[in-house]
Amino acid sequence: MHWTLDLAVGLALVDFLSGLVHWAEDTFATETTPILGRWIVTPNVLHHADPVAFAAKSWIASSWDLVLASGLLLVLSVPLGLFGPGAVLLAVLGANANQLHKWCHVPRHAPRIVRGLWRIGLLQGPRHHARHHRGAQNQAYCVVTPFLNPLLDRLRFWRALERLTVPLFGAPRRTDLRTGADRSASD
Ligand SMILES: [Zn+2]
Ligand SMILES: [Zn+2]
Repeated sequence: MHWTLDLAVGLALVDFLSGLVHWAEDTFATETTPILGRWIVTPNVLHHADPVAFAAKSWIASSWDLVLASGLLLVLSVPLGLFGPGAVLLAVLGANANQLHKWCHVPRHAPRIVRGLWRIGLLQGPRHHARHHRGAQNQAYCVVTPFLNPLLDRLRFWRALERLTVPLFGAPRRTDLRTGADRSASD
């Protein structure tokens, strides 16, 4: 694959994965779910209630799990024959996805290069990410680029994924998705 195409695929894939993980975090599990509750759901609930609060966290506190996951994906890309500029870009941006998200909430902390990438539209900036925090907070889940969210939201991709998964797993955190059974069980 030509290296520019490889980079574009890596960029699209890391953006999509950021959205998929974010959507799953916002949709499933609750604060009382073992392990996931304290590790992921509680900070997530807090982020939706007070979006700027997590900006106080250090890079390592908000990135250690993404560093591990991205490192693992990079190592796996070698035997799979996928190692290249795209895999490296995916790992670097994936490891820093929470940090990029954090800068969207405190733009004054963002390095010059990140603000430059916002301006030229290669990285997702604060105004774009603000869409996620509007209304039911059920759109614009991807946090890396400004390219995939409009497409996925227009295709109603997350709603289609919910139609497939919510009947199986329930969606205790998404009040807009509660079924009658869920509501009577939790009210
Ligand atoms: Zn969210
Ligand atoms: Zn946010």
